[in-house]
Amino acid sequence: MNIILLGPPGAGKGTQARRLEERHGIVQLSTGDMLRAAVAAGTPLGLQAKAVMDRGELVPDDVMVGLIDARIVADDCRRGFILDGFPRTAAQASALDAMLERRGLGLDAVIELAVDEPALVERITGRFTCARCGTGYHDRFKRPRVDGVCDVCGNSQFVRRADDNAVTVRTRLKAYRDQTAPILPYYRERGLLHTVDGMAEMAKVGAAIDEVLSETATAATEH
Ligand code: AMP
Repeated sequence: MNIILLGPPGAGKGTQARRLEERHGIVQLSTGDMLRAAVAAGTPLGLQAKAVMDRGELVPDDVMVGLIDARIVADDCRRGFILDGFPRTAAQASALDAMLERRGLGLDAVIELAVDEPALVERITGRFTCARCGTGYHDRFKRPRVDGVCDVCGNSQFVRRADDNAVTVRTRLKAYRDQTAPILPYYRERGLLHTVDGMAEMAKVGAAIDEVLSETATAATEH
């Protein structure tokens, strides 16, 4: 199954993508994670992307398309993939169609996590992750059971994303509104778009996504 998760920053795409990866054995392809890894490794791509990301703007389309084009051919994508953070512009959406077609692949569902924008700033600015295992936490909504200790691996070092600050978040939300939200009708017209309430509790959002995917799988076998 090949799925796109769409939604503004802080909508919960990463959390839900990781859950789908665990439950359905399809791989999460997060372009944000790929870029952050390149920044951490100091590669030419990382050096180019860092300033853009720090401003909350979008990295050029050709760079992003190249990254995904190279990634979806890897062995671990054979059972399917969840695109998290890609496509983010109309040009990326049409490049994705072309690369899938070239390889005889298709899209099964595009899931939009709909959220209330004012709540996003608080969601994003409070989030942090375990530096070792990547488990996500939040200052207000999900603190570790023991302060300063990861619930999952016991590590005591946490990281916050450089772009998760109130100023950059506003630019990122604007980029979503202006450049990403306009691609929703493109998928709606093709009958691929499913909207899920991203403001619900995490487990409920997961259940709603599972429901969409099982309906999609049933529809596919009936054809
Ligand atoms: P994310 O982790 O998805 O919130 O992405 C973090 C940042 O990486 C974004 O604010 C952009 O600067 C950059 N980025 C990630 N994915 C894309 C993409 N598909 N197109 C352009 N820029 C991207």
